[in-house]
Order: sequence, then structure tokens, then C-alpha cells
Amino acid sequence: MSTVAAYAAPSASEPLVKTTITRREVGPHDVAFDIHFAGICHSDIHTVRDEWGRANYPVVPGHEIAGIVTEVGSEVTGFRVGDRVGVGCFVDSCRECAQCRAGEEQYCAKGMVGTYNAIGRDGEPTQGGYSGAIVVDENYVLRIPDSLPLDAAAPLLCAGITLYSPLRHWNAGPGTRVAVIGLGGLGHMGVKLAHAMGAHVTVLSQSLKKMEDGLRLGADEYYATSDPETFSTLRGSFDLILNTVSANLNLGRYLGLLALDGTMVELGMPEQPMSVPAGALISGRRRLAGSLIGSIAETQEMLDFCAEHGVRPEIEVITPDYINEAYERVVASDVRYRFVIDTQSLRS
Ligand SMILES: [Zn+2]
Ligand SMILES: [Zn+2]
Repeated sequence: MSTVAAYAAPSASEPLVKTTITRREVGPHDVAFDIHFAGICHSDIHTVRDEWGRANYPVVPGHEIAGIVTEVGSEVTGFRVGDRVGVGCFVDSCRECAQCRAGEEQYCAKGMVGTYNAIGRDGEPTQGGYSGAIVVDENYVLRIPDSLPLDAAAPLLCAGITLYSPLRHWNAGPGTRVAVIGLGGLGHMGVKLAHAMGAHVTVLSQSLKKMEDGLRLGADEYYATSDPETFSTLRGSFDLILNTVSANLNLGRYLGLLALDGTMVELGMPEQPMSVPAGALISGRRRLAGSLIGSIAETQEMLDFCAEHGVRPEIEVITPDYINEAYERVVASDVRYRFVIDTQSLRS
């Protein structure tokens, strides 16, 4: 076991504080790496504030982790010391269910093992990326291409794959019309990725405040959802709508924006159930779907795609002592578009 510095939430109501945690001995199939950067995801905040009701304190959040390998187990074949690597939202899964065998580990029947706030195979709580180092089974470690800076690579491991997977699954590309609801940490990746895939991209945002940004990031069109005319103007316009907003929307209005056979995909998790007017689905053979991050293989494909197409998140790099303030700013939507923690001061 090794001891590393970390930032942890002691309870739902306290700020994160600097502490130390232990990482397991490097097993035969494990990769140990120094964490260089960790992104701040809104899920981190929901978890440490116990807004999802399952927090097991102390929690070290962070599931957008990028760093450099320091040690590999005796049986590891895919990684070597010095490799640039990353870890996303999960660090293990049952490996036996139909989904795991099909390479869709994020939908593991027994539940994937979250990078933090879960119980690992060794029976110990998992602790995330706001720390100096981590030990992860090689099957759940990603390779970060040389042309991707480690700080920009970090947010790809949750925000990036959350958007990439549905874009691929529903075949976004030249000739498809994609709308992204919300231009935040997730939404801005949706715009960049859909644009890089060759789709026609429209942002549906509450106001036109971020319009200039949206167009710069690759959107072809930008509309305010606070303007009722938007919904009549765009009726029947999209093949795919990705909803990145964790709020209860008037689904009937949004489903009406889909073309025949169009699909709207839920990516966020509003606290209350939403009601779905069946008429909006029936009238255009429309679909309402959901999508959860992506598999290990697809996450690797996404990293390679971003390297090849020069897709990078827009980030603001901070030091760990700024995490609590950064949380307030994320909650207030005051970040363009992802905070990334430089964990240098946590490395020994
Ligand atoms: Zn996340
Ligand atoms: Zn499984």
C-alpha cells in the first residue's frame, strides 16, 4: 500500500479538505500512475453533497483523470512505465455478464465499479482523481495519444465520452442534423464532436448569451429556448437531439423538434421524473432514449478521434486549493467550460 495526498469531502455539508489516502499494492494486472490532471464534473458535486443519496464519506471525487504510469504489475502487457494514460468513470465491472462480454461495461448487469464512491473488488471504497496517484486494473485504463495535452485530455474521459457515444450510436455525420440542449461542460463537447463528425449542429440554449462561443466552437446555428418562436421555427428539424441539461424540460415541445424517426437522448439526471406526451412520439415515430458514458473500447476510440481531429475541451486549470470555489462556480454555470485541477502539489 502507498499513501498519497488527496482532497476529500468529509461530509455532505463541509468543504473538501486536504488529506491522505492509501492506494492498494500494485497487483499483477494493475497499472499505477501519477495523476497530473483531474477534471471537475458536476457529478462530483452531486455526490459529495449527497444529492444522489449514496455518498460514503470521506469521498475523494474525480473521474476525469490523466497522468503518467509509474509502475505496472507482472502480468500487464498493454502499458509501460512512462506511458500517458487516463481513467474515466469506472475502474472495474463484473466481466462476465452479457454487456461486459459485449464490451459495453458501462451497462454491466451487476453495476460497474465507479472510480469513486463505490466498493472495489478488494472490498475497499474506491477513491477518485483529486489525488496524487491511483492504481487501476489495466483493462480499465485508457491510452492518451501523444498529441493530446494531459490537461485537455482529462475532461474527455467523462464529458467527452458522454457525448461521443450517443453521437456514434445514432450515426451523427455528414447529412445529419444534431441539436445540443445546453452549452455547458457536456454541451460544448457535444458541439465540438458533432461538428468534427461532419454533422450540422444547432445549439438550443436558454438565452443567446453564449452564442458567440457556440458558433466559435463549431455550431452552425444557435437558438434561445426562452423564445417561444424557436419551437415553431425549428419544428421537425432534427435527426438527433442530445439533452445535456439536468432540469425538467417540457418534453413535448422538444420532441416536436425531431424529424420523422428522430431520437432525443437524455444525458443528464434531473431529480424529478419527466412526463412524456405520447402524441409527440407517435406523430413522428420519434424516440426518447438515454445514454450513459461509453465503454472502454469506445472511450479509447473517442480519445484517438479527438487527437486526430484536434478536438479539445475548453478548460480552466486550477490548483487544488481552489476546488471549493470552483464548485460554487460550476453550480452557478460560471465556467467556460470545464475546470481541470493541476494535481502537482498532491504528488509526492
Ligand atoms: Zn462525470
Ligand atoms: Zn458485467
